[in-house]
Amino acid sequence: MRQALRELHQRHLGETTGALADYIPELAKGDPDRFGIAVATAGGDLFQTGDCLAEFTIQSVSKAFAYCVALELLGREAVLERIGVEPSGDAFNAIVFDPRTNRPFNPMVNAGAITVAGMLHERLGDDAFPTLLARMSAAAGRPLAVDEAVYRSETETGHRNRAIGHLLRNCGAISGPVDTILDIYFRQCSMLVTAVDLAWMGATLAHIGEHPATGEQVFELGAVRDTLAVMFTCGMYDYSGGWAFKVGIPAKSGVGGGIVGVVNRQLGIGTFSPRIDALGNSARGLRVFEDLANDFGLHTFECLNQGSLFVSSMLQRERA
Ligand code: GLU
Repeated sequence: MRQALRELHQRHLGETTGALADYIPELAKGDPDRFGIAVATAGGDLFQTGDCLAEFTIQSVSKAFAYCVALELLGREAVLERIGVEPSGDAFNAIVFDPRTNRPFNPMVNAGAITVAGMLHERLGDDAFPTLLARMSAAAGRPLAVDEAVYRSETETGHRNRAIGHLLRNCGAISGPVDTILDIYFRQCSMLVTAVDLAWMGATLAHIGEHPATGEQVFELGAVRDTLAVMFTCGMYDYSGGWAFKVGIPAKSGVGGGIVGVVNRQLGIGTFSPRIDALGNSARGLRVFEDLANDFGLHTFECLNQGSLFVSSMLQRERA
């Protein structure tokens, strides 16, 4: 695995398509060349290559984890009542709701994620963000912090999200003060993580909610299953169908350049490369995941799943 990651890193180092997200001004100040790949196993091993300890803001990757916490704290039915589980076919920041139900399409688009923040606020009040931070830190296995500059930048310029928030308030999807709820959302998006953090966070989901190295049970079992299902169908913006077809594992990407992927019961994969394509996905990240899925047979519906057997047999050999 170590060797494979090094080769992958080399293979895609020259891929410089895409550009830094700049609609949040502070994001445009990042180093576009950063590139890290990390893989954590459900058995507690970690493999990494490149800029794996470089910090970047988690952005939309946080939506998957916030959804998982909401499912656990509020219950599946209550969450389903307000947020659907259908791919939207629209951009992540689209101001559209499912015309049949008037709900946000899913928790991975901004409207759904802001509704999640609203529901957490209803349940936890001022503890909503500290609870999210604590859970996501536990999933990463280290205390995470907020990038104050990115948080401020998004707070100052996030008028579209504010508009979504007010519409949600107007139709009763959220009931608390819009600014407070957006503050939770902007903070959760501004948490700093590394590719290694994403790998552990993915491995925690892969390991049905238990962090493979710390042994902490971070997420509840049923919530993990539901979260992975929505990541599988809606996690990669408007490329979710292509991703399910080509890569075939639950994943979530963010405009900060991170992607987390989950090979159920086996691996968490984290990539970081901040040049993103027109749909919002890290351009290098997509290539890396495609190659990893092909080389190791990670696709959920790979008939023999030989690659996965290969991974576990390699690990066994390494341990022996
Ligand atoms: N904070 C970003 C926004 O709401 C997250 C976008 C993303 O990563 O897709 O615009």
